[in-house]
Amino acid sequence: MKAAWRIRVRGVVQGVGFRPFVYRVAERWGITGWVLNGVEGVVIHAEGEPAALEGFVTDLEQRPPAAARVTSVEIQDVPLEGHDAFVIRASAGGDRPTARIPPDMATCPACLEELFDPRDPRYLYPYINCTDCGPRYTVIEGLPYDRCRTTMRAWEMCPLCAAQYADPRDRRFHAQPVACPRCGPHYYLLGAGDPVRDDREAIARAATLLKEGWILAVKGLGGYHLACDAENARAVATLRQRKRREDKPFALMVRDVETARTVVELSPEAEELLTSPARPIVLAPARRELPGVAPGNRDLGVMLPYTPLHHLLFHFGAPPVLVMTSANRSSEPTVYEDDDARRRLGDIADAFLMGERPIARYVDDSVTRVGPFGPMVIRRGRGYAPLPVASLPAGAPVLALGADLKNTVTLVVGGQAITSQHIGDLEHYEAYQAFERVVHDLLRMYEVPVEETVVAFDLHPDYRSSAFARSLPARAHHGVQHHRAHVAAVLAERGEMGRRVVGVAFDGTGYGDDGAIWGGEFFVGSLEEGLSREGHLRYAVLPGGDAAARFPAQAAAGFFVDLPDLAAEVRERLALPGRFATAWKLVEKRVRVFPTTSAGRLFDTVAALVGFSGGITFEGQAAIWLEHLARGAAPAGAYPMPWDGRELDFRPLLEAVVADRLRGRDAAAIARAFHRGLAEGIYRAATALAEAHGADVVVLSGGVFQNQLLLEDLKDLFAGAALEVWTGRDVPVNDGGISLGQAAVAATLAP
Ligand code: ZN
Ligand code: ZN
Ligand code: FE
Repeated sequence: MKAAWRIRVRGVVQGVGFRPFVYRVAERWGITGWVLNGVEGVVIHAEGEPAALEGFVTDLEQRPPAAARVTSVEIQDVPLEGHDAFVIRASAGGDRPTARIPPDMATCPACLEELFDPRDPRYLYPYINCTDCGPRYTVIEGLPYDRCRTTMRAWEMCPLCAAQYADPRDRRFHAQPVACPRCGPHYYLLGAGDPVRDDREAIARAATLLKEGWILAVKGLGGYHLACDAENARAVATLRQRKRREDKPFALMVRDVETARTVVELSPEAEELLTSPARPIVLAPARRELPGVAPGNRDLGVMLPYTPLHHLLFHFGAPPVLVMTSANRSSEPTVYEDDDARRRLGDIADAFLMGERPIARYVDDSVTRVGPFGPMVIRRGRGYAPLPVASLPAGAPVLALGADLKNTVTLVVGGQAITSQHIGDLEHYEAYQAFERVVHDLLRMYEVPVEETVVAFDLHPDYRSSAFARSLPARAHHGVQHHRAHVAAVLAERGEMGRRVVGVAFDGTGYGDDGAIWGGEFFVGSLEEGLSREGHLRYAVLPGGDAAARFPAQAAAGFFVDLPDLAAEVRERLALPGRFATAWKLVEKRVRVFPTTSAGRLFDTVAALVGFSGGITFEGQAAIWLEHLARGAAPAGAYPMPWDGRELDFRPLLEAVVADRLRGRDAAAIARAFHRGLAEGIYRAATALAEAHGADVVVLSGGVFQNQLLLEDLKDLFAGAALEVWTGRDVPVNDGGISLGQAAVAATLAP
């Protein structure tokens, strides 16, 4: 006896070839009925024998297209409608589009085969794509996802593309960005003599220029890159100088996995991450010296080609290891518009390889690594955004505006938290403008009126994101303390609302409840009951305020506030920069000093004591230097860091560091013993708090936990304890995760 089922499939099921997939599965099982894109996902009406319906649904659940992510399948018995075929129906218009926007995907194997097949109509065409791959988020201008609401709307399909687009059996059925050389956009080269207007000639010439040491601006998926030969030290140095980027590492794009293996040490897990459809940058230990690429850093960031254009560049002989860094100056947002590219990159790039397809919004390459606790996203961008990162039980939509550094924003709509791509540091005017644009973009795409939202923001009185939050005409405003948000982000992505944990939040800077600069915090509680501060790193002071974060020797003086005799020894017997003595005068007189529990500044202090003498040009630089230094030493004991039930005391540790320095102990061994000492201190505090408060999970969050050596030591220590350890996975532990944490806290408060 025939039956009819109404099947609702939710998750990432639009723009990923899901409907033609349903069509093919229906054909296989002899199912009749229809499928359409509804406002909350894909809706299917299926008629057939019960056994066939079962088989149909099993295939839907177990063999979805590569880029799809099914989160739920709901089945309902309905009356028979009497269909004699299976059809794909046009999208239902309607309510709020909570259906997901898919992220951009790397060129798939089938498209790559066609790209290099001389008989294929899209042979060597830099915009080849299909339902399994290509641009999505970076071309979508509105929902529902249809070609007329993408940046491809200007190009009318030729008969070939139109036929494939309309054929449910074709890989390009409803592939919105489908195009071919006859009907689609093209690449061209500017700045190397006469403009080169032919795709192949332009790309081949660009490849040659890269080989000759030129710096090129290359239009990609979510923005422009600046590219040069990574093995040409002179080109790399020139790029650094023109980009005004002193030390911050450059990302690399390598020709293929084999090349990647020669550049970095890849574990099987890291290789899996590198070749995943998101094709992120993967940080891994360098196997080769590439001068100027990542000075003072153990790791290199590598990625594989992920657009047809990238594959073509290597095909036409570009150097196998390219610097591919976001095209911007300093930490401004990445350039993604053509006019802007010519204006802002004119004195950085020697030539421009530009493509005609507009980019709807800038999305940077994602940065990931495989750490001791598994894969973690360090910067969330292309390939991940705007996939939902968590389910949150919010009644009203929540808009969380993040922190001012490494800003992201999170929108909770229909119970799903969508975290934006990495936006940047809002102190830069351009980044701030981008921030406002992303907020309005998210609200518009998901059709959420700002008046209906609960807005969450950081408590810092001077954050631009907070000022903007307060200015929004929302239904409620919730300030969320920075380090509670760090811990909440990890709980949110695991969907743990009621689990009682010890939350360890270690980072550089965040505004505390008491107005001090926090950054070494221990909390106990859950998202539901709230997070109570039960301990912290001992208070030090920051002499001279913000500048202390840029000069480790200046920060160091503040950690000797209760150790004046030791400070005198440091001044007289260790060669620290003059800033230490100058800052010490402020500390002694208690002039312009600010209380702090920042673990980031403790790293700076130790870095300064063992020889980091300059200023820093990017956040975390001294800590990364110290970790790199420590890697050069065998396990070398642990400096003492006692925990008294409330306070983790760094003074005995500093006494030991200074004594070892004066004794002439190797700097690497000192750095190593510092890491182990801090890990043991955290371990001691967390286990004591867990026992005292009845928690069985320890959450590690905050930028300090990007330190792999510290994580390795902690993993080692906790291996013997009956405690689970959770840290960030899909959302960064650095300030890029703050908006999700804010959203989670506000969601539990929201009506
Ligand atoms: Zn494809
Ligand atoms: Zn065409
Ligand atoms: Fe932070």
